Amino acid sequence: MTPAAPSPAPLPGAPFVSYRHGQLMVEDVALADLARAHGTPLFVYSSAAIGHALAAYQRGLAGRDALICYAVKANSSLAILKLLADAGCGFDIVSGGELERALAVGAAPEKIIFSGIGKTRQEMRRALEAGVGCFNVESLAELDVLSEVAQGCGRVAPVSIRVNPNVDARTHPYISTGLKGNKFGIAHEQALAAYRRAASLPGLRVAGIDCHIGSQITEPAPYLEAMDRVLDLVAAIEAAGIPIHHIDFGGGLGIDYGGTDDPSLPPPADALWSALLARLDARGFGNRKVVIEPGRSLVGNAGVCVTEVLYIKPGEQKNFCIVDAAMNDLPRPALYQAFHRIEPLAAPAPGAPAVIYDVVGPVCESGDWLGRDRALAVAPGEHLAVLSAGAYCMAMASNYNTRPRAAEVLVSGAEARLVRRREGVQDLFRDELA
Ligand SMILES: *Cc1c(COP(=O)(O)O)cnc(C)c1O
Repeated sequence: MTPAAPSPAPLPGAPFVSYRHGQLMVEDVALADLARAHGTPLFVYSSAAIGHALAAYQRGLAGRDALICYAVKANSSLAILKLLADAGCGFDIVSGGELERALAVGAAPEKIIFSGIGKTRQEMRRALEAGVGCFNVESLAELDVLSEVAQGCGRVAPVSIRVNPNVDARTHPYISTGLKGNKFGIAHEQALAAYRRAASLPGLRVAGIDCHIGSQITEPAPYLEAMDRVLDLVAAIEAAGIPIHHIDFGGGLGIDYGGTDDPSLPPPADALWSALLARLDARGFGNRKVVIEPGRSLVGNAGVCVTEVLYIKPGEQKNFCIVDAAMNDLPRPALYQAFHRIEPLAAPAPGAPAVIYDVVGPVCESGDWLGRDRALAVAPGEHLAVLSAGAYCMAMASNYNTRPRAAEVLVSGAEARLVRRREGVQDLFRDELA
């Protein structure tokens, strides 16, 4: 009897990444083939995974007046923006550069929400001329400047005020944004006064209210707390005669990175939104337009980064597996001590002896590591995949150590399309003068 082909076993959190016949696949494409064709480091994204993640939000919000604004900063590659724009998403942007990216893929301007604490006058003007749907304003000073700029170009700026509900998102301090000590938003206590000011300024039209409490949130409780705080404010603001048309609950839902030391798994987006909408209904705001700004949860588990093992370096205290991807490609471990699963592209033969390695890149920094204490059976020339690399990896990539940024491939079924060419070294100093 011939042994049955191993059934595709999807990896935790990444339903479209699986081993088939011993080969790591994204959908129906073998990553080894892509590494051969395009070189490494290489980011590969599954369009089905993005569609799957978006569908969970759409199910959760079904039957509501709701707008999903993808947070562009999680992964701003045009091919991904295009996929999401074509699926009906709006965009949450935090810079003039992200605005141009969204417009470049044909995003509907009225579905674009402009967030961020440091918008320049130039960025405001461009966004007004493009006709963005809302400015999420983060300070009184910004309200004044936006009013001036809007009058100057004869437009009316739709505004929400980003309120800081003082809720602990219980996530990494660098990605927690809804606490009093954070630089984001206007304090809950000052929100009503800020709305009065917004309503009185020429060139502004109050459209909604906004909050965003952090990222990689793994439980519903902080969302429910923030919602309650925001709804209290909506009631107070409307009692003062200022109608709030939409409520923007931000993004922040976490993903499963497959780490074994972190037992908290984020709720699925549809379950989370069923619970949140039930609370919205119970509080009597069920007919209100809802806006959300998910980033990581739409793309994080849709991407992997393929890297080649360059050297094995045994040491007295640590063994190092030196790969050709580094902190400039994948900054999350260096920035947040973040965990990413690392798997070989070719499943090791059963019983192959594994060694415990720190997987590190070539950059001249001790912080340049991708994974610590990983059991791997690998040799130079073989390839590894860093999983859950769809969000806050390529978008944060830099050219540190004069390393060109990686190429990107978008997979759809058995089809793989190069969507970003590998950067050339000449590109890196093209604008410099010696
Ligand atoms: C980063 C950000 C988001 C998206 O956060 P995720 O954790 O990626 O979902 C949404 N809104 C604002 C204002 C942000 O800064």
